[in-house]
Amino acid sequence: MFRLRRSLESKEGRNIGPVPPWVLEVFAGLRTAGYQAYLVGGCVRDRLLGREPKDWDIATNARPDEVQRLFERTAPTGLKYGTVTVLAPPGVKPPRVEVTTFRRDIGTEDQRHPATVEYGDNIEEDLARRDFTINAMAWNPQEGQIVDPWGGHADLKRRIVRAVGEPRQRFREDALRMLRAVRLAAELGFRLEGRTRAAIRKQAADVDRLSRERVRDELLRILASPDPQWALWELEDLQMLFRILPELRPARNFPQGKPGVPTLLDHLIRTAQYCPPDPVLRLAGLLHDVAKPATVQLTGEGVHFHGHEVKGAEMAAGAARRLRLSRAQVERIESLVRMHMFQAATVTRKGLRRWLGEHGQEWVRQLIALRRADNRASGLPADQPDPWLDRLEDELEEVLHEGAVLRVQDLALRGREVMEILGVPAGPQVGAALRFLHERVLEDPSLNTREKLAALLAEYARGLPGATG
Ligand code: ATP
Ligand code: MG
Repeated sequence: MFRLRRSLESKEGRNIGPVPPWVLEVFAGLRTAGYQAYLVGGCVRDRLLGREPKDWDIATNARPDEVQRLFERTAPTGLKYGTVTVLAPPGVKPPRVEVTTFRRDIGTEDQRHPATVEYGDNIEEDLARRDFTINAMAWNPQEGQIVDPWGGHADLKRRIVRAVGEPRQRFREDALRMLRAVRLAAELGFRLEGRTRAAIRKQAADVDRLSRERVRDELLRILASPDPQWALWELEDLQMLFRILPELRPARNFPQGKPGVPTLLDHLIRTAQYCPPDPVLRLAGLLHDVAKPATVQLTGEGVHFHGHEVKGAEMAAGAARRLRLSRAQVERIESLVRMHMFQAATVTRKGLRRWLGEHGQEWVRQLIALRRADNRASGLPADQPDPWLDRLEDELEEVLHEGAVLRVQDLALRGREVMEILGVPAGPQVGAALRFLHERVLEDPSLNTREKLAALLAEYARGLPGATG
């Protein structure tokens, strides 16, 4: 009987797949020192799903100071929460393992209500304070035994996200779990369990109290997931979407009038879905037409949205700033939304070079990707060729290939030389001359030599008011 049980457990253990040797070393280090230790949380979940874990977590009854003493290289990343990062020797993967002392209660992690951490003695208590059943499993790789008091393995097979314990209470403790539920489901292609879902809908208003940084992290992960479309509609249905992005509320019932795309919100969510999985690009996609309801005009010739891209850029940047995106991310979203109405047929090589100089190559690719997503989200078939966008992409490759000078600071003449040739002191005249040269070089990159630029500059000086020559 005993033998049979052991063999079943080790079979289950083998199913979890290989654990990196260095993670096993940390585990064995704790065990040899007489402590309990388990792999826990996301890595167990991912391994059982046959996915590569993002990071490896170990739970133990050793206290943080004991963990620090046990291993040579550690970092006190989350001492407040009982977490010590154990660092691998250089070059070894994974580079770190998080070792966390068993806890009784996670409390609320919101910065405004710092959690009081109470250490626990056993893994069961530790699992009970975790958020979802599929995140509340532990695994002992030595014995090949899974500790799964909440039925996480069964929920993995049913592909559902279910709160550990009483959902309403768990979401009251930490409202971020409501967003984590949707994010986790979007990443894994799971659905929310019924009672968990109902509890979120009841308590959705609590997301207003979360720190914006925590909301941002979950929203960006939702957007980067394979299924943002499902997740965004789920957020809408659960009454959370417009709390996070109130700018989208007017789109909810704003008619789009395209086959299969009844409302503007349908169009925006689809655009996000059809963008490549870069979360910032997808946020730009989600917000690109956000100002249509605010700019709509009905004239004799039909419906117009004059300036919606300008107003929309402002609104999108405001949303991104509120969500504490970085300055570079805010600028990216702002410029993509502002430029999303570009006419591919009218973009010249000079225009392309200017874009490359101002925004860089990734931006240009994203702008084109946004347009393709926008078209598809308006009901065009995914495989419908767009000759103008195709031409633009070809020209982009060619322009990149010519290695042209794209920015003022890359001109073959520097400001100092311009001052000498023109015989003027430092000042606005120098900038104006450099901009003149830049324009000419954008038109014809072969002009970017010292001799040719100097000649151009002499010509330019003769045209200046007050020129004597
Ligand atoms: P991934 O690393 O892929 O994002 P993960 O499940 O490891 O997934 P983490 O944020 O690294 O997610 O958290 C590690 C574990 O800590 C989770 O699996 C879960 O058990 C627990 N956990 C994290 N955040 C919370 C929370 N807000 N409430 C309760 N438990 C949590
Ligand atoms: Mg993790």
